[in-house]
Amino acid sequence: MGHHTDFLNMNIEQLNQHYASLKERYDEYKNQNMKLDMSRGKPCPEQLELSKSMLDTVTSSDRLQASDGSDCLNYGGVDGIPEAKELFAQILGVSSNEVIIGGSSSLTMMHDTISRAMLHGVYGSEQPWVKQPTVKFLCPSPGYDRHFAICELLNIEMIVVDMLHDGPDMDAVEALVSQDDSIKGIWCVPKYSNPDGITYSHQVVNRLANMKTKARDFRIFWDDAYSVHHLTDQPDPLTNVLSACKEAGNPDRVFLFCSTSKITFPGAGVAAMAGSVENINYMRSLISVQTIGPDKINQLRHTRFLKDMDHVRSHMAKHAAILKPKFEMVLGKLESELDGKNIAFWNKPNGGYFISLNTLDGCAKIAVKMAADAGVTLTAAGATFPYGRDPRDRNIRIAPSFPSVKELEKSIEVLSICIQLASIDKILL
Ligand code: PLP
Repeated sequence: MGHHTDFLNMNIEQLNQHYASLKERYDEYKNQNMKLDMSRGKPCPEQLELSKSMLDTVTSSDRLQASDGSDCLNYGGVDGIPEAKELFAQILGVSSNEVIIGGSSSLTMMHDTISRAMLHGVYGSEQPWVKQPTVKFLCPSPGYDRHFAICELLNIEMIVVDMLHDGPDMDAVEALVSQDDSIKGIWCVPKYSNPDGITYSHQVVNRLANMKTKARDFRIFWDDAYSVHHLTDQPDPLTNVLSACKEAGNPDRVFLFCSTSKITFPGAGVAAMAGSVENINYMRSLISVQTIGPDKINQLRHTRFLKDMDHVRSHMAKHAAILKPKFEMVLGKLESELDGKNIAFWNKPNGGYFISLNTLDGCAKIAVKMAADAGVTLTAAGATFPYGRDPRDRNIRIAPSFPSVKELEKSIEVLSICIQLASIDKILL
């Protein structure tokens, strides 16, 4: 029995035969009482080890001064030390006066930015967003579950827009934003997107920058979480969105976000946001009420360790060396188990943290549940869509970074078996 057999062309007898042997393999795995977790995009211990020496860059015998002479042990500097602003400006492709350094989490900055917009509006708003009867966001999907959770928490209505091979479906985006002034924003993970691993094309970035929005205070939430997280030495190019917005005459349209969570330490990294000077001045004035300033010692640690873009790139190459065999194992296993069967389709990303897989409609939930029953935990099916509802119940997010290559081999085999069993059930229904 060859691997490359189209399930949709099999007769009932062949499918039943297939099912029986797959079920046998499934039961064998189930009896092994495995416990494998592929649910979240967490760096593995080996990756964390790469940044351990950063902890030695700040010691008690040092003078912990920033480049402007400010004492990092004391209060001061609401938007970050100059060298941190300079480093993040380079990472995000903006000027250092267009950057605000935050705490350890970019998600916090996104959450707070939207909360502030609800309560106070953004630069140029006529009123706080929350004064409107409804506030809506466009959510290219599949997307990042925690973006959607922020909207859900703040009662922002989410509108699903399809992700195409080079970004959101821009025909749909343009049509929606031009007609409805309650649509105030769009979530974008423009590079090695979570979970599809795709990078927005030049054309998509330009259309986002140039489109006519009925809401005059519309904002793009540009979560550049994976901007330097390449898996190959030929990184996907991404058009500079702030420059594109300026050229389009919409300089205030975009907020950019990123962090070192997957460069150094998740939870103990440094986050930053960027935008036009007007946006940043407005944000700084609100942030200065919330805090006297973020952790400058951690900023110093990071700038001493990461130094500049050349160092960031060589550091990220070390991450890639660890991650690449893991992605290759997942992709190789998917290919040997599922290729040619016409029941699953997946992306081969050039960077980021995820592989996104689509099953036949209506098979994702059951396949993920079966995998869980056999000890393999995946991101909940549906989580990649607003309200946790995948309308076609077909998207599965695979996070290969944390498990070992050996564990991945088993996990993907189990997942592939589950997808095949679920597909046969579906076809025979
Ligand atoms: N944005 C995206 C797209 C992510 O995938 C993640 C983590 O998985 C984050 C943001 C979280 O970033 P941070 O740790 O800076 O809050």
